[in-house]
Amino acid sequence: MTYKLLLLPGDGIGPEVTAEVERVLNWFQKHRGFAYTAERALVGGAALEAEGAPVSKATMQLALDADAILFGAVGGPKWDANPFDKKPERALLRLRKELELFANLRPAICFDALKDASTLRPEVVSGLDILIVRELTGGVYFGEPKEITTLPNGERRAVDTQVYTTSEIERIARVAFALARLRSNNVASAEKSNVMVSGVLWREVVQTIHDKEFPDVNLTHILADNCAMQLVRRPKQFDVIVTDNLFGDVLSDEAAQATGSIGMLPSASLGAKDPKTGKQRGFYEPIHGSAPDIAGKGLANPLASILSFAMCLRYSFARVEDASLLERAVEAVLNNGLRTGDIMQPGKTQVGTKAMGDAVLASLDAMAKS
Ligand code: NAD
Repeated sequence: MTYKLLLLPGDGIGPEVTAEVERVLNWFQKHRGFAYTAERALVGGAALEAEGAPVSKATMQLALDADAILFGAVGGPKWDANPFDKKPERALLRLRKELELFANLRPAICFDALKDASTLRPEVVSGLDILIVRELTGGVYFGEPKEITTLPNGERRAVDTQVYTTSEIERIARVAFALARLRSNNVASAEKSNVMVSGVLWREVVQTIHDKEFPDVNLTHILADNCAMQLVRRPKQFDVIVTDNLFGDVLSDEAAQATGSIGMLPSASLGAKDPKTGKQRGFYEPIHGSAPDIAGKGLANPLASILSFAMCLRYSFARVEDASLLERAVEAVLNNGLRTGDIMQPGKTQVGTKAMGDAVLASLDAMAKS
């Protein structure tokens, strides 16, 4: 089977970190029989400049045809003043919406070698392994009406709409429960049922899916504000957290901070499984942005992107052994003391993007031989 990949490097450090992923892809092709073809296309600011839209029709078609998409990052100061529909970040929203990527998986794992890099005490984060499952295509980012109007008295009024249906909540709950079974079997569902009716429905539906289909999984309900507090107080109490689009956005960034660096964190976004073909759309990206402050300098940490490819191997292609091989290779590089600037610590060796990629490849070589 030959996998069809689409590479969307994007803006800023996106192309730099994606270049390192491509070297890793080649390694897996050469050494592990990972047969693939890769298309490349522009996205974000780069696509705006060359094609007049954050993501062109042709690129959308490539995305629809691909087995998996590896995305870099989009955005930058050049486009900050653009109108909403001409912002590079619109590309991401469109891709998520049209590919129906409703489940965003964000692991927050603290590698032992980096436990001192967290702003939390090492004993609080050492061994941390949380998976945040965020609903990605509904809620307040997409709800209508979404508008700014001018009132008769001249004042302006902005409205965003938080909206969820039963089926939207059911499908994300199923993803969370199924993943929990592969981990420590605990799900915490976070909402604001004390003040939001969408939270009331969320809690009811998650409980119903649990009782009917996943009674063996431990389920707790937690208010999203308490969840935010517990994530910095005692993060290891969590295994899988399932939550809506808005709370997921905030909570996953907070959990990221506990792990030390934004340059280390991968993510996956999945669509529904096609009942006929069994195919499931997968979109993989580091959680960081285009980092304009370090773009073009060869300083970016490529590990979040490389670990996103590990998630791709696991979730899109069920190549679990290859995924864990790659994760162990990254861990070995960290254990050997190599660091990019964002995770630099006293006594360690600072390297740039390409040297970090070299080290991962060398680590893979060493593991393949042993
Ligand atoms: P950012 O993630 O780009 O950068 C935040 C800080 O982290 C910066 O100091 C940056 O240098 C550092 N950083 C990020 N990734 C790093 C890496 N791999 N290695 C080393 N250091 C890294 O967030 P921002 O500065 O808020 O946003 C910059 C641009 O990126 C904006 O235009 C924003 O809209 C966009 N953005 C895009 C995405 C995406 O494409 N998914 C996500 C977030 C932000």
